[in-house]
Amino acid sequence: MFNNLADRFDSIFKSLKKTGSIDESALDNSMRDIRRALLEADVSLPIVKDFIDQVKKEALGKEVLNSITPAQMIIKIVNDELINILGSESSELNVNGVSPITFLFAGLQGSGKTTTVAKVASYLKKKHNKNVMLVSLDINRPAAFDQLKILSEKINAFILPKIEEQLPIDIVKRSFETAKLQEVDCILYDTAGRTNIDEQLMNELSSLEKEINPLETLLVLDSLTGQEAVNVAADFSEKINLTGSILTRIDGDSRGGAALSMKFTTGCPIKFMGTGELIDDLEIFYPERIANRILGMGDIVTLVEKASETLEEENAEK
Ligand code: GDP
Repeated sequence: MFNNLADRFDSIFKSLKKTGSIDESALDNSMRDIRRALLEADVSLPIVKDFIDQVKKEALGKEVLNSITPAQMIIKIVNDELINILGSESSELNVNGVSPITFLFAGLQGSGKTTTVAKVASYLKKKHNKNVMLVSLDINRPAAFDQLKILSEKINAFILPKIEEQLPIDIVKRSFETAKLQEVDCILYDTAGRTNIDEQLMNELSSLEKEINPLETLLVLDSLTGQEAVNVAADFSEKINLTGSILTRIDGDSRGGAALSMKFTTGCPIKFMGTGELIDDLEIFYPERIANRILGMGDIVTLVEKASETLEEENAEK
């Protein structure tokens, strides 16, 4: 997904490395190029602005370390700021709570929500050894339950049976009773898809959230839709208390803007990314690894970290 952006950073850093000393005008040139690269990757303007300001502030205020070139220093600063907008530390799914712990999935229709519910359920089974139950709260689309049922069979998980005409709020109540009887550890709720932000469905989602009181409320977003995904995220995060987002179709040729804008927009971390149509095509989102994928400068980052550790040690000895 980040190939174009990675190429752009590669050429920016190549020309930066050629510049022996970095004065304010050399820094300005690189920042202009980085700004353009981020905008072309479809990162939202306020985020780009914030990013550039932050890097500049750091770069101008930083003491250049012995044995490190100014270019290497800037690369490290850009790397750190990239990690910062991607979400600092990885924030794995919260699985600590009194059983049954609950996960609510929201998102637009076609974003990959139902597939993602099954992927996360399979992850909980395999990685955390949890007894999971899937619940479809989408009563508008008759095929929604069937789709989730097919997926539940694929991963060998229990799905709450359907009772015709039962309202979502009553399905939730029934799910709690069944979870007790079946000794379920985790309940995953698939909600009704929306083609766009629809007031009535949003209100329904909000009341389901109150009834379920989920440990995690996860917004599923199609990374291919770029800025549109960012707008959707902004709308959803106004209505419900999101704890994380999941970006799907990372395997497609999205430009990366959604990933780089999401933390800033929702205030909560990206927890997973969907990397294909199969159940196992799900990866935990590690900001540090993604930054390295974009910049490809892991060696330099390590070098600068070592140099600053050495400086700290020397200072301490003094
Ligand atoms: P929903 O309407 O939001 O529930 O979306 P679905 O789960 O039905 O997914 C819509 C389509 O996207 C299906 O064909 C999925 O197989 C596909 N899909 C979901 N996640 C991914 C992903 O990470 N990568 C790719 N390539 N396809 C995905």
